[in-house]
Amino acid sequence: MLVVQKFGGSSVADAAKVLRVAKIITDTYKKGNDVVVVVSAQGDTTDDLIEKAKEINPRGSKREMDMLMAAGEQISISLLAMAIDSLGFPAISLLGWQAGFETNSKYSAARIKRVNPERIRAELDKKRIVIVAGFQGLNRYDDVTTLGRGGSDTSAVAIAAAMRADLCQIYTDVEGVYTADPRKIPGARKLEEITYNEMLEMATSGAQVLNNRSVEMAKKYNVELEVLSSITVAAGTKVKEVTNMEKMLIKGVAKDDGVARVAVIGVPDNPGIAFKVFSRVAKAHICVDNILQSVGRDGTKDIAFTVPAGDADEAAEALRDYCEMVGAKELLVEKDVAKVSIVGAGMETHENVAAGMFEALADANINIQMISSSEIRVSVLVDKKDADRAVEAVHRHFFGA
Ligand code: ASP
Ligand code: MG
Repeated sequence: MLVVQKFGGSSVADAAKVLRVAKIITDTYKKGNDVVVVVSAQGDTTDDLIEKAKEINPRGSKREMDMLMAAGEQISISLLAMAIDSLGFPAISLLGWQAGFETNSKYSAARIKRVNPERIRAELDKKRIVIVAGFQGLNRYDDVTTLGRGGSDTSAVAIAAAMRADLCQIYTDVEGVYTADPRKIPGARKLEEITYNEMLEMATSGAQVLNNRSVEMAKKYNVELEVLSSITVAAGTKVKEVTNMEKMLIKGVAKDDGVARVAVIGVPDNPGIAFKVFSRVAKAHICVDNILQSVGRDGTKDIAFTVPAGDADEAAEALRDYCEMVGAKELLVEKDVAKVSIVGAGMETHENVAAGMFEALADANINIQMISSSEIRVSVLVDKKDADRAVEAVHRHFFGA
């Protein structure tokens, strides 16, 4: 079998952890598998490198930032190759460009255009374990690029897709995907399986297990993923197209407290208002999530929407002139809010799921400010101070714990 294994920064944070990871890899190799490994930079290395750059030039170019950040993975791949060697097994480390990662030129958020796995194949033919630097590639100017924070998951999936690997294992510091954050909800359960779409909704709703783009890519190329722990030996969670747990009403409850609500109060109730508001926000390159428009009264209406918390002031700024121009009553930014979501393909066939969520929140006396939904997700916006209680109440309603 061809197995791709990815280890995140926390799994290789120090020497002992690097050696433990080396053991997982060589155990897989000993069973007769071809093994390609993708690693992230050790621990907080990437953050530390960014800090270093800021001390020198807070506005360093993105090209130089990529050159700098890519160094983190160069450290971890070489150390891991040495660790494997110390266990008596053959290994070779490769930087992104050596492993055939071609990207576009969007520094610090590059997209993988193609992976040419020739070199990796040649090394596997020599019976070597191949260790690849995640998060990086080369653009058409032969410059180093990085894929955006958390990009190593995507590197692993890209290799698995390009080489048609039999298995793509994402090792991390949790045992898999849970029905809620296990650090906060003691009754949270590990899922055996979850679909790509559910995983995508969970990730956008605040569950931080897998990088979103990696799941999109896995879905596109039908790469089955397994999320598992590099510390405890236990079956993880499989991420795949169809699961036999579809009878589960929902797969999990997630919280995102990195959101804010922007509200435009008292704009004229005319055609084109929503277009004018949201085109301004879009022009500022800000993604809008939940949207609520009130029923018009006295010739005016209100429009409220949520954005990533870090973009809230900018979104309001983008609307200020417009609000003055049309004589809007108020422009409000509320940052003490959080989004609580339930996710599950079971919703498509059961009508009473959303009602169950609202009932749980009502019983806990938690006020809902906004509601939004997709086919397999219902999200509510609540006061930040109520968010943990909301997750707990909703989780208990659906999972009994
Ligand atoms: N080292 C990079 C980061 O911290 C990539 C990754 O961890 O996946 O964002
Ligand atoms: Mg990292």
